[in-house]
Amino acid sequence: MADWPYNTGAWRKLRAAKLVAAPLCEHCKARGVLVQANTVDHNTPIAKGGAPFPALEGLTSLCERCHNEKTATHDRGTAKPFARRFKGFDASGNPIDLADEWHRMREK
Ligand SMILES: [Zn+2]
Repeated sequence: MADWPYNTGAWRKLRAAKLVAAPLCEHCKARGVLVQANTVDHNTPIAKGGAPFPALEGLTSLCERCHNEKTATHDRGTAKPFARRFKGFDASGNPIDLADEWHRMREK
């Protein structure tokens, strides 16, 4: 059974709105693969201070596989500091995971 906020009507509406706005897995799309998204993920986990009901930009549509990959490598707190939440690179050869160290270094 889902815990708060996933058991609320407000979340179900927000999730549905996100899947209408972004029906494809955003991370598969970055790799050039079009996959139907079925999961809406918080960009900042609620456990880490993220808003439970953020604006759509604060959410990411993911397929089950990408969501499991992210949850396994990032949200459990057991990940190595440099572990990429999302494996793979976009057409320019950049890591698709915006939390990747590579992007942070580029911003400096
Ligand atoms: Zn995906």
